Amino acid sequence: MSEINILKELEEIVGEEFASNRSEDLYIYSQDPGASLSRPVDFVVMPNTTEQVQEIVKLANREKISIVPMGGGLTLSGLIIPVKGGIVLDMKRMNQILEINEFSRYALIEAGVTTGQILSLLNENYPDLQPPIPDAPPSATVAGNMLIHGSGYLSQRYGGHGAMINGLEVVLPNGEVCKLGSCAVSDYWFDRGPIPDFIGLFISAFGTMGVITKLSIQLFPKPKMREIIFGLMNDPKDIPDLLLKITATGYAEDILLGMQDKPEWMKGYIFIMTYITGDSEEDISRQNKALKRIYRKSNARFMKAPEKMRNLYLDKPIFAAGAADFRKGGGFEYVGAFMPLEKIPEAYEKGADLARKYGIPPTLGSRLIGGVHTVVMFFSYSFNRADPKDMENARKALHETNKLALELGGIPWKAELEGQRLTLEKMDPSYKKLMKTIKNTLDPNNIMNSGNWEVL
Ligand SMILES: Cc1cc2nc3c(=O)[nH]c(=O)nc-3n(C[C@H](O)[C@H](O)[C@H](O)COP(=O)(O)OP(=O)(O)OC[C@H]3O[C@@H](n4cnc5c(N)ncnc54)[C@H](O)[C@@H]3O)c2cc1C
Repeated sequence: MSEINILKELEEIVGEEFASNRSEDLYIYSQDPGASLSRPVDFVVMPNTTEQVQEIVKLANREKISIVPMGGGLTLSGLIIPVKGGIVLDMKRMNQILEINEFSRYALIEAGVTTGQILSLLNENYPDLQPPIPDAPPSATVAGNMLIHGSGYLSQRYGGHGAMINGLEVVLPNGEVCKLGSCAVSDYWFDRGPIPDFIGLFISAFGTMGVITKLSIQLFPKPKMREIIFGLMNDPKDIPDLLLKITATGYAEDILLGMQDKPEWMKGYIFIMTYITGDSEEDISRQNKALKRIYRKSNARFMKAPEKMRNLYLDKPIFAAGAADFRKGGGFEYVGAFMPLEKIPEAYEKGADLARKYGIPPTLGSRLIGGVHTVVMFFSYSFNRADPKDMENARKALHETNKLALELGGIPWKAELEGQRLTLEKMDPSYKKLMKTIKNTLDPNNIMNSGNWEVL
């Protein structure tokens, strides 16, 4: 079918205003804020109902056009830039918060709901509840974050965000709607089971298995008080001991570590932030004292932070201005990698060497998930987008970091195409075969974000 006829059909589904193939509209969808090169897009379309998504997917399947679901487009690793052209399905208009269940503590939302939107609704109307959100800008969608195995300030205590999905409504690649989780059996979206659990098929799949239109996410009780215990240490080798001791207390809501050459005062140290929560000053003070003792025993020094800095880091999401060397016209991209705790010291040392090799000030960080069951390591590289040499260096550093993470027994998180390729190269053949079988069964025409996770 000709391009003009496809556009006409898209316009009939969503209305003229919400479908386009004009170059001025497509320009922004052909890139993201990270270091990926731009790639062409043929159409952008913005549905506002599940039925419209179904019609668009049926059209794409019939015409064998690639279709890329997009939330806030903020993963930085090029996941929403089409690899094989086609349609970008911008989910922004599906932004209804459908239900807040205070008894079973969940929110049922449409896939375009942003993290800022859910946080502000709960803050205003449900002050005893808090959502799991990342430190990404508030225009990131809850779905986009959960679907990429994201994490945030509640993750050390409650686990990764992918595990906090109770249920999904999905438009499958053939256009059929499927419900997963307790909602497949009950009116309540309160749990994933106890039935065969296929929700994981859609997590870290980067939109290759279907379009999520609704999801239920877990909410958590909100403590009255929150505090940060700042610390500094000199030697990355002391990190595992410190983290094991802190997590054994059960006090920490979130633990963040950082090592960066900028600002100048941070150079040469590993920066530690342990977040604690409580209901009273006494409660906080007791945990504070215990954690300071642990810091000392693990060769870390307690650091009294200025009020301004404390307030900055208590904010949710944390405003990341200090997290990278933002030069004029600049940006950054990071390799996130899920790592085993014992490899974290080596990851900091080798990560810093790698950044220096490419003339980029080292900016490394990590966050604990589920009481050190996983540590997410961030190897961040800043760049000036206007400088081609800078961009080239950042891309080379990112590529080498993927290799480093895999060599250290880690797994690149929200991996861009090269990272996916390296991961597939190392993956057990039986797992790859299973991925291929499932993909071919669900999406025989390979229309869903084609080019990603492609097992040939
Ligand atoms: C400054 C900064 C800080 C960040 N901090 C964190 C952090 O603390 N923790 C963290 O986890 N991440 C962090 N991120 C990474 C990322 O921005 C977030 O995880 C973000 O929530 C991703 O959501 P999004 O809406 O931008 O997803 P998108 O980039 O739009 O999409 C992500 C992936 O999911 C797919 N997808 C999106 N919507 C759907 C759908 N409806 N159906 C099927 N597939 C879909 C897309 O195709 C894509 O593959 C950070 C990013 C920045 C820029």
